[in-house]
Amino acid sequence: MRKKIVAGNWKMNKTLPEGIELAKEVNEKVKALHPAGVQVVLGTPFIHLSEVNKTVNAPQLAVSAQNCATEASGAYTGEISAAMVASTGCRYVILGHSERRSYYGETDAILVKKVAQALENNLEIIFCVGEVLEERESERHFEVVRSQLEKGLFQLDKSAFARIVIAYEPVWAIGTGKTATAAQAQEMHAFIRSVVNGKYGTEAAQNTSILYGGSLNAKNADELFSNPDVDGGLIGGASLKAEDFAAIIASREAH
Ligand code: PEP
Repeated sequence: MRKKIVAGNWKMNKTLPEGIELAKEVNEKVKALHPAGVQVVLGTPFIHLSEVNKTVNAPQLAVSAQNCATEASGAYTGEISAAMVASTGCRYVILGHSERRSYYGETDAILVKKVAQALENNLEIIFCVGEVLEERESERHFEVVRSQLEKGLFQLDKSAFARIVIAYEPVWAIGTGKTATAAQAQEMHAFIRSVVNGKYGTEAAQNTSILYGGSLNAKNADELFSNPDVDGGLIGGASLKAEDFAAIIASREAH
């Protein structure tokens, strides 16, 4: 059975002390909520990983990096390898976020290398896909998302693919306060599941968690999570306040 997941993406926010404080607050809230059926993930900046991993102990909580290098080790100044990420106690890595694709030129070919590095180091991957506004307006959103899946992930065999969580994040909804409607999210999630089904079969498709991301917050979580193919969320802004994030976790647990 696929997991219900609520993953926060802190992006480039919070100093180390602030991040530890937020992680502590989330940890306490998760312990109080005790959301038995929800995997909660904190996607922190690299430098927070080790400390946040030591700070959290709620059984539902895991920590994620927001990126990793294409190479295993060597003369790549400023890069952080998947092995380094794993060595902090991290379980997840977010790859292919639209901000990385657009601001840092991450192509499908680069992502194939990062995916391979992450899997070699036993990380689970939250792999982001999603169309920009112009692609949706010209009705190319399904084609774009299919291509991102095929070019970034479908080199994997079935057992490797089992370590992938997909996050559908319409770029026009990220950090904009605009959310996809519940119907738009469900439609795309069902499409993604059908594409996975076509490649890996029904069982793999049914077992793949597909998260929605894009201005998800405590107010719209219930509506989004009540869709059968929306297994959870990847949350930016609303993951920076423990109370808001906890409300989203509670909503996921309830639906
Ligand atoms: C994200 O960064 O993945 C995201 C969805 O951000 P926000 O929730 O702020 O739109």
